[in-house]
Amino acid sequence: MNKIILNGLTYEQLLELCRQAGVKAVHAERLVASIYRRYNTDIAAIADLPSALRRYLTDKACMFEPDCTASQQAEDGTRKLLLKMTDGREVETVLIQAAGRLTQCISTQVGCAAGCSFCLTATAGLSRNLSAAEMVSEVFAGQRISGRKVRNLVLMGMGEPLHNYDEVVRFVRIATDPRGMAFSPNRVTLSTSGLVPAIYRMIEDELPCNLAVSLNATTDAVRSRIMPINRKYPIAVLMQTVRDYITARGNKRVLIEYVMLAGVNDSLDDAARLCELLDGLDCTINLLPFNPFDAAEFKRPDDAVVSVFRAMLAEVGNVVVVRESKGRDISAACGQLKTETAARRRQSAA
Ligand code: SAH
Ligand code: SF4
Repeated sequence: MNKIILNGLTYEQLLELCRQAGVKAVHAERLVASIYRRYNTDIAAIADLPSALRRYLTDKACMFEPDCTASQQAEDGTRKLLLKMTDGREVETVLIQAAGRLTQCISTQVGCAAGCSFCLTATAGLSRNLSAAEMVSEVFAGQRISGRKVRNLVLMGMGEPLHNYDEVVRFVRIATDPRGMAFSPNRVTLSTSGLVPAIYRMIEDELPCNLAVSLNATTDAVRSRIMPINRKYPIAVLMQTVRDYITARGNKRVLIEYVMLAGVNDSLDDAARLCELLDGLDCTINLLPFNPFDAAEFKRPDDAVVSVFRAMLAEVGNVVVVRESKGRDISAACGQLKTETAARRRQSAA
């Protein structure tokens, strides 16, 4: 019999578990506090549980924290971890230090099916979705390994979160539940390549997090070439969706990500078109100079090009940040630690 994974259940599901064990609802709060506030992974260590509930949990449930199979630390303190799930699949999570605060970048899938041509994660395709419990377990591992409180979560690791909508929603709800992990919804950001219907679902579901959209190009010709999803949801449709999101969420600010690829989307015309696309939009723009990886068909633009592009956006009043990939000495692209580790294992097996 498969055991229920406790650190992947919502408060309501823990409540139901207490009901099934025949104990009062108040114990659900104790469970939530022990698991999600103290990141406890040992049922025996949960204090003051009625013996019926403890027996029930020991019998039917377990807690999960993945093994960390590889880790790299950059000079700036950024740490990349490779985490192994129960079926042996591995995903990356990254701990980023900024202004004394710790941000964790969470993977939502093993691989990704979206096929963006500048992204290393895309090259292996999609293996499977991660469950909410596995995403929660990334945070558990991040907390334990850093020994510090993670303050921000960004769903910008491996995978397209909105291709795994239900589990991602469950994860975001667990992460932001004030009775548990209690991340402020303003400190959780979901990044998508632009799955339009799912963004409308986020509006309907009032998902408690920020939205980031990877725009990455200013013409449909270029965007369709580097992001196949654009053939289904072209730029005009995506931008209208972003505007609808902002309005529906009471002028909630969005993040627009723009990967800069030398000679592909970094011209002055691109900067001018980007200004037009974002005109009047309440957003912050993150420029992400391309992180190269082996066999990539793109190059990172020169710093001077990035700087002029940034200035053109800022000149008309945009809030724009050049997001230098933290931990550049260890990282390059997302998915790299996984790829390198796999290559090393192949070498040592040969
Ligand atoms: N799938 C989601 C979230 C994960 S990717 C999305 O696409 O939004 C997180 C961000 O990294 C995205 O903005 C993506 O465009 C960017 N990215 C992917 N590969 C990159 C690379 N090689 N260099 C710089 N940014 C990259
Ligand atoms: Fe998937 Fe995002 Fe990479 Fe595109 S950029 S392949 S959506 S992880």
